[in-house]
Amino acid sequence: MREQSLTYGSDTRELPEDRMTAPSNLQTGDLISTDPRTGAEVARFPVADAATVIEAVDAAREAAAWWGDLAPKARRSWLLRFRAELSRRAEELAAVISAETGKPTDDALLEVMLAVVHIDWAAKNAEKVLGRRKVPSGLLGANLAATVEYRPFGVVGCIGPWNYPVFTPMGSVSYALAAGNAVVFKPSELTPAVGQFLADTWNAACPGQPVLQVIHGGGETGAALCRSGVDKLAFTGSARTARTVMATCAESLTPVTIEGGGKDAFLIDSDADVDAAVDAAAFGAFGNAGQTCAGVERVYVVSDRYDEFVDKLVARTRALRGGDDDGADYGPATMARQLPIIAGHIDDALAHGGRALVGGRESVGETTVQPVVLVDVPEDSTAVTDETFGPTVVVNRVATIEEGIERANNSTYGLSAAIMTRNVSRGRELARLLRTGSVAVNSFLSFASVPALPFGGLGDSGFGRIHGADGLREFSRPQAVAAQKFTAPMNLLTFDRKARDMKAVRLMLRHVYGR
Ligand code: NAD
Repeated sequence: MREQSLTYGSDTRELPEDRMTAPSNLQTGDLISTDPRTGAEVARFPVADAATVIEAVDAAREAAAWWGDLAPKARRSWLLRFRAELSRRAEELAAVISAETGKPTDDALLEVMLAVVHIDWAAKNAEKVLGRRKVPSGLLGANLAATVEYRPFGVVGCIGPWNYPVFTPMGSVSYALAAGNAVVFKPSELTPAVGQFLADTWNAACPGQPVLQVIHGGGETGAALCRSGVDKLAFTGSARTARTVMATCAESLTPVTIEGGGKDAFLIDSDADVDAAVDAAAFGAFGNAGQTCAGVERVYVVSDRYDEFVDKLVARTRALRGGDDDGADYGPATMARQLPIIAGHIDDALAHGGRALVGGRESVGETTVQPVVLVDVPEDSTAVTDETFGPTVVVNRVATIEEGIERANNSTYGLSAAIMTRNVSRGRELARLLRTGSVAVNSFLSFASVPALPFGGLGDSGFGRIHGADGLREFSRPQAVAAQKFTAPMNLLTFDRKARDMKAVRLMLRHVYGR
């Protein structure tokens, strides 16, 4: 087998030719996306070089001046038009998502639905969250009117992944637009047609100004975007690439938001509804072929419910099937490069005493991975420590839910987690012990469907937030204004300061703040 090297993500690796399905397209000057189910070409676009990226950012800067100066109500109505247009064309978009990722069209449609819900929320709440508001001016500022307002940065660059090529980047793109920024978006090189569809739909809904543009390419185009002078960079992708992106942005002190990967834990307490837990864990682990940043990769079950959970999960998993056809529960691996990583995690688990109750190493096929359930896997196996991003799950027994939480927290990642317990208020208390950005109680991923909730992680899962009020503020710069209404009886910021004023300061320090 001929080996070729290619630059993908942050590193250059030697990869076998048959593992290069998508990235090899970058070597031709054109970016060609292919259907992972058939290998057939889906679309091709010219790769944007550094000069093209700068051109796009320059055009975006002019558009940003127009967009940022619009009355908030006008921006809201343009965004709602975009939302309506996307909703009307949702089936068409789902077909493009399906073609480029290989996921079932119903899953793709749900992704569009989620994105639309967020665009709607961002459009309708931007003015309330970001608009000018008064704040108390305090003892020293009694003569001041103090206000804070969240102003747009100007031009925001967004770099997206391929696993949810609409929902994920739109978490940055729509909130950045709603906050009054123009956006230059570089979709994943695996899903350029999806990115192009989004930009084309925007431009049909809001013609005239390039408020949302798309540029195509891989890591080099992404790096050019980081260096292009954008005012903020929103990155979604792996922790490994995130480190490179941050280093590149550091050259120009460009602020970054990082939405990285995850190794999410799913915790099952003694009082849990085990059937509901099986249903949620199976969907969380195997849905979208396990290619979900906040997917279920580790399950910790309290000892007295462990056997029941494992038996039912095994039965449920045996009924699931990955495949290229419409009847499959999930599709092939979108990125063939991930297949050896998934196989490596299974090997590592089995080599260190883990057991496969469903599937095994042989489940990793040429394009598709059949579901794998692993048990008794040591906590230091790569199957537990590293993001697998495939339809495999590790289920381990814990003595108490507190032990499960401790193990869940023992991770470099901190994206999200789930807790199953019939006692919802205890679930909320347990959630506070988890070192993650989000927690679902008695469900999987439910927080992502609530647009008012912020989403993001810590550690290798990144920092900054998309969604909700925090997501709008993420793409804004707070501006503080203190307007003097009348001359202060006590003026301390002058060389002509009075001795009696300093006496008042000393009294205040002692009697107001010194107690
Ligand atoms: P990736 O890190 O390989 O690539 C992400 C993006 O970065 C792509 O658009 C790529 O072209 C670009 N890129 C690569 N090298 C670059 C460089 N040097 N400079 C600038 N840009 C560069 O990730 P992926 O394989 O596309 O996506 C999967 C990863 O994304 C997983 O780790 C997953 O967990 C994560 N993810 C996170 C979230 C979240 O919201 N936290 C959502 C979806 C996916």
